[in-house]
Amino acid sequence: MRDVALWARLLALEKPWTIERVALDAHERSLDIRLVHRRNAAFSCPECGRRAPLYDHAPARSWRHLDHGDCLTHLHAQVPRVDCPVHGIRRVHVPWALPGARFTTAFERHAIDVLLEADITGATRLLRISWDEAWNIMERAVDRGLRAKGRRVIARLGVDEKAVAKRHRYVTLVCDLDRGTVESIADGRKKASLDAYYQSLSKEQLAGIEAVAMDMWGPFIASTVAHVPDGRSKIVFDRFHVMKHMGEAVDAVRKAEHRRLRAEGDEALKGTKYLWLYAKENLPESERERFAALRALHLKTGRAWAIKESLRELWGYRRKGWALRHWKRWYIWATHSRLAPMVKVARMIRGHLDNVLTYFDHRITNATSEGLNSKIQAVKKTLMASGIGLT
Ligand SMILES: [Zn+2]
Repeated sequence: MRDVALWARLLALEKPWTIERVALDAHERSLDIRLVHRRNAAFSCPECGRRAPLYDHAPARSWRHLDHGDCLTHLHAQVPRVDCPVHGIRRVHVPWALPGARFTTAFERHAIDVLLEADITGATRLLRISWDEAWNIMERAVDRGLRAKGRRVIARLGVDEKAVAKRHRYVTLVCDLDRGTVESIADGRKKASLDAYYQSLSKEQLAGIEAVAMDMWGPFIASTVAHVPDGRSKIVFDRFHVMKHMGEAVDAVRKAEHRRLRAEGDEALKGTKYLWLYAKENLPESERERFAALRALHLKTGRAWAIKESLRELWGYRRKGWALRHWKRWYIWATHSRLAPMVKVARMIRGHLDNVLTYFDHRITNATSEGLNSKIQAVKKTLMASGIGLT
């Protein structure tokens, strides 16, 4: 009995909640705490805060709580539902977790501390949570942080999709390109994933959007055109995203050529994947010699690489007209290269050329999209900037 009182203190349980039972499974290293409320307890409607009669209980559910020793700890309870005269039947708020959370507030707060200190893989290991769960916690914290921060106009947005787990789970991230912060994380990469962000903005905020950097991805285009006034002219298929497609095409050429050479016993392309993907100026000093020797072999992969590097020059022009002239020459070169992956990407870019060239009106690039790590840094920055409000 004293144990129960101690646990109630540890959990800082508020009336009318009490502990019914604490079960330790020493073998499984798990601790399960079952919570109940006093009979005839009064609850209020989560919408309006008015006292409302108890209607029934939702099925039992659990929340992951802070570990105790090496024991995974879960709270279990049946959440009461009230019958509000105005709002109908609603699930009440529980004091230990936020609505919809799978973790207690104490756990979420601790998880964010760990996520801020460690890289995401390390954090998932320390916290014994999955990638999905880590993202879910960050997603919710970003959301709360932004709600606390209030409304402001964000002129330049970056929209990105990111695979966050092995099994093709995607999230859509919206970044404030000027501040380098994440404005929204949403599940999936559908139109609805981005719609939700735009729908959260006021008319004034939507009108204040000047440019949106993104990939040539139909659902994001459709959502932006549907919500942002004059959205079509504000979309920029930025260098990062265009070059990503180019890099994939070069790699496809390399793979095919490597397969063919290897069949003849030639291993020239073995282990060269990343050499071809660097921007010319970023090639590490230590690889320069090897790369020059590779280029001297006059491989198809070398030609694909040169086409890729030439396209990159497009963004160096100061005037749209000059860039357009460069594009036209480049397009003929690429489409006459007889390198199918290059031809395919060149045609795709042509299909979206107007919004590649909007770069020269807006001059934005999605700098925060250079990989998952910088993305997580951006999320962290957002969390810190927002004071990690768990309220
Ligand atoms: Zn109500």
